[in-house]
Amino acid sequence: MAFRTITGEAGQAWTNDTSRVYWQLHVQFKNSCGLCIQYANAIAPYFPLPFHPGCNCTQTPVRPGQTAKPFVDFQAELAQLPHSQQVAAVGASNWRLIEAGKVEWKDVVTPGRIRTFREVVRRNDLTADDLKRAGIRKDVVDRAFAALNSPENEAAKAQQKTIAAALKGLGVSDDRIKRELTGNLAGRVLVTPIGNRPPSPPAAPAAPPVPPVAPQPAPVRPKPLAPQAKPQPVPVRLPVATLPEKPKPPAPNIAPVVPSASWIKRAVESFNRFVEAIRAKAKRKTRS
Ligand SMILES: [Zn+2]
Repeated sequence: MAFRTITGEAGQAWTNDTSRVYWQLHVQFKNSCGLCIQYANAIAPYFPLPFHPGCNCTQTPVRPGQTAKPFVDFQAELAQLPHSQQVAAVGASNWRLIEAGKVEWKDVVTPGRIRTFREVVRRNDLTADDLKRAGIRKDVVDRAFAALNSPENEAAKAQQKTIAAALKGLGVSDDRIKRELTGNLAGRVLVTPIGNRPPSPPAAPAAPPVPPVAPQPAPVRPKPLAPQAKPQPVPVRLPVATLPEKPKPPAPNIAPVVPSASWIKRAVESFNRFVEAIRAKAKRKTRS
């Protein structure tokens, strides 16, 4: 089972412009683990609470037309936590990279979210050697690279290249392209696998004890909603960004990785809106 969360930039608030009830997760930053903290103030169709035994997270409904509480500034929130909880929040492997000087705190914790270990590895072009020298266990390194080289991920990379080339053609700067592709888009929509995980641990298995997600029924599940039509995909307007064919499911012992097919789809849609905005702006400029 996977659930999709909606996140956004710190201080921005999400308004439910759909016809169904969504839920916002509330985390008590003190004494919460990384598993929970990563979802602080995120929105989802519902959260399968508790995430783990002893989880203190709660969720509140965001009804159609309502605006949720603003997304949190993770950098600010985490800066206030004691050391042990900072480690728990970013994951042991990410923490090792920070301590070893391979990456900076801000490479892991952005105002809008906490990046996964694999994302950090990918964004910073870290090699297996870098990771090993930072003291990260070999099996963690191997799994991370296996996932980063999965067919699913290759499809996403190819997609990004297409988008980048199209943007370049529109005269967008390299810097801006990189930012859009690696930062904002990923920040807007996160597809997070949870529950019924394959037995392999998540990206940072050396993390301080995050009790496994117990396969118990989620008691706080919101009332079943009336059967809804699947949300209609926003039409992809630009010919430059077509959706790749559905990637094969990953090998059974590899945890699903961001970006997934739906992530790509969302990213493409979001990206197309971004391109449209640039085009509109250019049009206005030429007119005036
Ligand atoms: Zn919790």
